[in-house]
Amino acid sequence: MIIVIANQKGGVGKTTTAINLSAACALQGKRVLLIDLDPQGNSSLSFVDSGSINASAFELLTELEQPWPEFIYRTKVKKLDIVPSRISLAKLEAKLVGDFDAIFRLRDRIESIRGDYDVIFLDTPPTLGIITVNALVAATHVLIPIQSSYFALEGTDDLLETIEKVRSRPNPDLSLMGVLVTLFDKRTALSKDVEAHIRKVFGTKAFKTIITRSVRLEESPAHKETIFTYAPNSSGASEYLKLCREVLQRG
Ligand code: ADP
Ligand code: MG
Repeated sequence: MIIVIANQKGGVGKTTTAINLSAACALQGKRVLLIDLDPQGNSSLSFVDSGSINASAFELLTELEQPWPEFIYRTKVKKLDIVPSRISLAKLEAKLVGDFDAIFRLRDRIESIRGDYDVIFLDTPPTLGIITVNALVAATHVLIPIQSSYFALEGTDDLLETIEKVRSRPNPDLSLMGVLVTLFDKRTALSKDVEAHIRKVFGTKAFKTIITRSVRLEESPAHKETIFTYAPNSSGASEYLKLCREVLQRG
């Protein structure tokens, strides 16, 4: 299965989820590939040094003759590989202007390596532009992280509409796997209200697991660690493992 982690809002926990959910699934014995599609490259930095990146998502989508092995970087997490991203990816939109097949680039590229992995995760930028659309066209499932804050659901209508458009033509098989409450603050009534609201709006599409706010989760990327090596006994570690089980069940 190919899972796109999408929300055109920044700072909602897409990348944190991409990193730690990928690692959780690898720890569960799945063969996992994480493709970083955000020009900021934050997912990549947890796993590879920026200086060592020769081939990235930008070349994957533009240098169509360049063979796959060059894009795959092994990580220190067993069974987890990554296709890193660099800032050059920001030029993709301009580069693909006028190309009728622009939205199918990632899907076509993934086709030949799909069978090598049990789960492929796609981390996306905070926009609904060509990169995110490529990811939605290539994916089988969408996971939407939503921050439990006052404006939590603002913008989700646009995202759901984009998902519907992609389903209506280029990718009818795309399904909404679930909505994930992130950055949950146990101490505030607001967080609980927002969670209740999200459960009311999305029903069983809301994952049972929620991700609470945790300093450990915030710190781990700076140490180039996932939560499972940085703070294996933290709430973040157990929550992302729980989420992984839910994801594998729903897939
Ligand atoms: P996005 O990819 O949607 O922009 P990030 O995953 O990069 O969001 O998260 C935005 C910021 O919030 C980052 O600094 C990240 O470390 C922090 N963050 C994300 N999830 C949590 C969490 N559960 N607890 C604490 N900090 C978090
Ligand atoms: Mg991000």
